[in-house]
Amino acid sequence: MAEKRDYYEVLGVDRGADDATLKKAYRQLAKKYHPDMNPGDKEAEAKFKEATEAYGVLSDPEKRRQYDQFGHAAFEGGAGGGAGGFGGFDFGGDMGDIFGDIFGDLFGGGGRRRANNGPMKGANLRAVVHISFEEAVFGCEKELELTLKDTCTTCNGTGAKPGTSPETCPKCKGTGQVTYTQQSIFGSIRNVQTCPDCGGSGKIIRDKCTHCHGTGYTSSRKKIQVSVPAGIDDGQSIRIREKGEPGINGGPRGDLLVEVQVSRHPEFQRQDMNIFSTVYITFAQAALGGDVRIRTVDGDVLYTVKAGTQTNTKIRLKGKGVPSIRNKSIRGDHYVTLVVQTPTRLNEKAKEALRKFDEACGNRPADTGADAGEEKKETKESGSGKKKKGFMDRVKEAFEDVDK
Ligand SMILES: [Zn+2]
Ligand SMILES: [Zn+2]
Repeated sequence: MAEKRDYYEVLGVDRGADDATLKKAYRQLAKKYHPDMNPGDKEAEAKFKEATEAYGVLSDPEKRRQYDQFGHAAFEGGAGGGAGGFGGFDFGGDMGDIFGDIFGDLFGGGGRRRANNGPMKGANLRAVVHISFEEAVFGCEKELELTLKDTCTTCNGTGAKPGTSPETCPKCKGTGQVTYTQQSIFGSIRNVQTCPDCGGSGKIIRDKCTHCHGTGYTSSRKKIQVSVPAGIDDGQSIRIREKGEPGINGGPRGDLLVEVQVSRHPEFQRQDMNIFSTVYITFAQAALGGDVRIRTVDGDVLYTVKAGTQTNTKIRLKGKGVPSIRNKSIRGDHYVTLVVQTPTRLNEKAKEALRKFDEACGNRPADTGADAGEEKKETKESGSGKKKKGFMDRVKEAFEDVDK
């Protein structure tokens, strides 16, 4: 056996070369001398092994340190030592990455890799449908128009001109994959790659179908009915089976995933199955009580406000919310916040009536105008705090009968 060359010399780098420089040098040599690129060339194979060995040592900080100190002697007498005795090396880490890179470069990798060429389900497609708030609550039917691929009817998806048929790829023998077994210093490494000749299909088309240009597919605009279930929420998706891309080698089509986007409602907000809204009532309605009209997704509801209703009173309209997406008969509730509007722009008659009202309540106006108004408001607010709980209990009893 010839005298072993210095590892730095093998890679053509300085003794102080950093990791990136080593890797780059090795990649260049590995590509140049790779046995697959030099079939039957013993000299290239030897150079490839030599470079791989050098890189294996120098890319490992501990081994590099030993090599720098003792030279090749550092690794002699190891397992299986002597000629070809590389058993002591442990090539882990980025060797796999490097080979991946090299094969990628050699064969234009980065394309689709397929595990096998048997029947495979087609890819899923995505689409978006926009619906209104009410359509989300009650469900709806929508029609989507999409460009869908279909198996070419002229060639039945083979991509080959009628009367001809695709040939089994000689390189991969129809498997779509090629396996490179590397008998090198670190034992045998098997690299499985997509066949570069057939792109993984396992077939070679000599005469392309003129209808689909050898792709095996045609595209057309298709109308698709989407049944949007009641209770769906913004951002949820509906899966329509087998409306995606065509299957491969006789596999089923992929699915169509339709994402639902729900428009905002001017009055209603939604949280899960519950709906929330705000209803404004007048001061007189709040004080005297009476019927107010409340808009719900089921139409208007007449709700009897109790006399003495405070602002921000919350009522629940049971079962007026959003149905469960799983069971239409289960529905959420509609929560209404009653907001008492303090009157503005009062005419003289109304002002007089309010002053009389205040007097009748036993409140002595401290002054006229705005100050008096503010004082009155304060009194009412402090009053609302005390009364609130008892009132809420009564509301709870009251709203049950609104439910229809
Ligand atoms: Zn065709
Ligand atoms: Zn092939």
